[in-house]
Amino acid sequence: MLKKNKCFTTVLIVFCIVFSMFITANAVTVSIGIDGTANFTNAQFYVLGSSNVTTYTSSSGTTVSGSIYPNDLCTVLDATGTYWKVSYPTSGGSKIAYCNKTNILSNTSYCKRISVYADSTVYRKSDMSTSFGTALTTDKIYMLSPISNGRSQIIYPTSSGYKIGWIYATAVTSASFTAEKSKFPSGKYWCHTPGAQYTADTISSSPCTCDKHGGGHTTNDLLTGSCGCNSFEGAIQCMGFARKVGYDLFGTSVTSWKRSTLTNDVETLSPGDYIRFKNDGHSAIVTSIDNTYIYVVECNADGKCGIRWGGAYSISTVKNSLTEIRRHP
Ligand SMILES: [Zn+2]
Ligand SMILES: [Zn+2]
Repeated sequence: MLKKNKCFTTVLIVFCIVFSMFITANAVTVSIGIDGTANFTNAQFYVLGSSNVTTYTSSSGTTVSGSIYPNDLCTVLDATGTYWKVSYPTSGGSKIAYCNKTNILSNTSYCKRISVYADSTVYRKSDMSTSFGTALTTDKIYMLSPISNGRSQIIYPTSSGYKIGWIYATAVTSASFTAEKSKFPSGKYWCHTPGAQYTADTISSSPCTCDKHGGGHTTNDLLTGSCGCNSFEGAIQCMGFARKVGYDLFGTSVTSWKRSTLTNDVETLSPGDYIRFKNDGHSAIVTSIDNTYIYVVECNADGKCGIRWGGAYSISTVKNSLTEIRRHP
């Protein structure tokens, strides 16, 4: 009995230590987007690990040139092939040589666009002991390794090039659409009989009878939905529906979500995010994204308040006509 208690206490202490590490780590929420190709030329970095790294006289990696110390601030000069051309400090100044990219990148086949929800401290090495700089919410950032132990290697832009470093990161919560799909099925209409009682959960099997689906509603229409179009939080049709789905998914108003108008942020949309695009002409909730398309759930793409799951818009279309993104909490 006594032994069991001691064991439990030990587990509890370990749990508390691990938990407090996560608290102090202060991980930034990141939205992980499409595959990307980062530019490494002029990127400052520290080699991985705490050992010296051998450098070579050429990109073939055959003749030894020297060593990079673990705390040397290095710069990538050319990032082609396996051995990258780098410069690093020496006792006499600096030296140019080649080092294996596996000493720079923790994962040589992973590169994804990300956006950070808040400005985030970047550390020199994965031990997170010394800061290197700050990655901003407005930066075009690439994640160079999947999140492991709450950490991820990234490359972000600076005034003179780039920096490769580490952040404490946690991926944004993913939305679950199951309940919304059964409440608002494809093929139904988000509308009601004009003048009849309705709620934002009302759907109809018949197209909306309102004759103003191309615009032309007055503010009064928007507030009451008296025309037959359903209304939610002061909006009807595509915008009202997107706000409704967003609210159902996360329990907060889409209009209170973190806003972005950066076209680059389209590359890091995540399921549940709200987009306003087509030059302020259409709203939708993102259900998924691949390297070419953004898939959405939407209303009124048919001009009749029809509900549709699986509508696809190319990333370039959304970028070129973007009004705003609202990042879900
Ligand atoms: Zn309508
Ligand atoms: Zn209407």
